Amino acid sequence: MDNKLYYEDIDEVIKNAKEQGVSKFLIPGASFDDLPQAIKLSEKYNEVYFAVGIHPYDIEQYDEKVLEKYISHPKCIAVGECGLDYFRLPEDEEDKKKNIKKQKEVFISQIIFAKKVKKPLIIHIREASQDAKKILEDYDAKEVGGVLHCYNADENLLCLSKHNFYFGIGGVVTFKNAKKLLLVLDKIPKDRLLIETDAPYLTPHPFRGKRNEPLYTKYIVEKISKILNLSSNEIEDITNKNAYKLFKQFSTKN
Ligand SMILES: [Zn+2]
Repeated sequence: MDNKLYYEDIDEVIKNAKEQGVSKFLIPGASFDDLPQAIKLSEKYNEVYFAVGIHPYDIEQYDEKVLEKYISHPKCIAVGECGLDYFRLPEDEEDKKKNIKKQKEVFISQIIFAKKVKKPLIIHIREASQDAKKILEDYDAKEVGGVLHCYNADENLLCLSKHNFYFGIGGVVTFKNAKKLLLVLDKIPKDRLLIETDAPYLTPHPFRGKRNEPLYTKYIVEKISKILNLSSNEIEDITNKNAYKLFKQFSTKN
């Protein structure tokens, strides 16, 4: 996907979000192709940071040398998205096995890398909770911790809150069919809650289907505050504090 097409008006997008009170932006890595654009934005805006990583859909590109190259950039503050995604596996049994094996290798390699450079992880898990959890535990990912981005509401993952992992809540929480996530929300320790966009995807109601942008995080905050019986301000404070705790480099002057 070419995100440039989605954000030709990126300066406007950032300005609107800042006016709405969004104070920090973290652009996750997915494929290496998007990195030049992420670096450009992080150098233009004090508030913008980026991560380097390979998404399970882009594992063929994986090269630790590329991670090495970008991680030394002062605005590169996390490793990911990385993880496991069994939603879109090849049909052929042999190919499927090979794909899963490669996904695991690339995921493990990125956990080891994150520990080496002491940066938190941005984790993508889709229909692969059990395997992903086992890998995070076996490879001691808790040393650096991270965020389970777009947390899939699987209760079996909740115990990772004790392993230095945070739970990213996005637009899905505002969807009418989000029942599972609504039920699990108050089981997430408050000091492990984070808000995220997954832009350009998962745009919150009432803009579902349109392009997502950081401005819309306010709808996620509103919905969570209703479910947890807290004010929007409280949810903002809690999730801001959590974000600064996980992404420590948000606090350093650039
Ligand atoms: Zn993802």
